[in-house]
Amino acid sequence: MVFRCQRDSWARQFATRVVSCREAELRPESGGEPMRGFQVVLEDTILFPEGGGQPDDRGLIGAVPVLRVTRRGAEAVHFVETALEPGSAVLLSLDWERRFDHMQQHSGQHLITAIAEQMFGFKTTSWELGRQQSVIELDTPSMTTEQMEALEQSVNEKIRERIPVTVRELAADDPEVETVRSRGLPGDHTGPVRVVDIEGIDSNMCCGTHVSNLSDLQVIKLICTEKGKKNKTNLVFLAGNRVLKSVEQSHRTEKALTSLLKNGPGEHVEAVKRLQSSVKLLQKNNLNLLRDIAVLIARDFKSKPVQSPLFVLHRKEGDSEFMNIIANEIGKEGGRAAGRQRSWEARPLPGQGNQDESSRRSASSAPGIHQSTNR
Ligand SMILES: [Zn+2]
Repeated sequence: MVFRCQRDSWARQFATRVVSCREAELRPESGGEPMRGFQVVLEDTILFPEGGGQPDDRGLIGAVPVLRVTRRGAEAVHFVETALEPGSAVLLSLDWERRFDHMQQHSGQHLITAIAEQMFGFKTTSWELGRQQSVIELDTPSMTTEQMEALEQSVNEKIRERIPVTVRELAADDPEVETVRSRGLPGDHTGPVRVVDIEGIDSNMCCGTHVSNLSDLQVIKLICTEKGKKNKTNLVFLAGNRVLKSVEQSHRTEKALTSLLKNGPGEHVEAVKRLQSSVKLLQKNNLNLLRDIAVLIARDFKSKPVQSPLFVLHRKEGDSEFMNIIANEIGKEGGRAAGRQRSWEARPLPGQGNQDESSRRSASSAPGIHQSTNR
């Protein structure tokens, strides 16, 4: 079945009727306990069930939120928490912001896929529409920065040329189906084959919802490439409003850094490099000072006329090296307890991390640097 959302990607409201409603469970995408609710089938729908790499839509049936839409054969199944009466007339509303974002990313993918193949012969083997960024898997072991720049320039040129994007339906046995770019039809596919055309650029078998003109994409930004599986390359991209959001986010970060670093964006990198090297120097000095302190603490302990057989010290910045230095310094003169072999151990300090050096405890609760005897 071709759904209303596939015939008219721009429909935001639609009057239809409930066909069936049955109890069901929904497993949340984030994991956890399944949610109890109902699976509702409508006569037709403007809520796209996931498919072709595009996630499902959200919206309302009347006032009831739709939490998931899935495809079951020729039917779209809407998961809701409230039961709906079969036969009743309902008004369906679409979460347009989410859907339009998906349309921009999906049509953007078709365009990038077509131009990457035209320019460099890089075939698309899969793609993923992510929550933040989308990824196209290209069948090439690598892609140079120059190739990426040329591809970005070309796809944005096509957007500026305002090229129409159209959808047509072909009979499954139409010989033209063979000429269309495809990654294969799902096993349970029935009915006509849907083809999305970017005029003069691409024909692609696809069930998704698309923009009607490349100008609806506004802009495409190719972010980076990453090494993919099996000698492939993942191309990360943003389309449309996501580019604006990303610029806004970068600007906010830049503003915060300008205020923190007290210089302009052009000097941020140098300023952070200077900070990093001064932190490294301070850490080195701090380590040397801690070593000196460890020696002095050990000498102070040994200089006491009457020594406890136990030495306990809490110091939050003390690490294992700090403890070993003290242990070695104290152990230099050999064990004072005749006939006993001394050993040292470091134990974690449960809930004692903030105690200072002067806080000494009895051996019975002895955390931290703790001497024990082996008989
Ligand atoms: Zn597609």
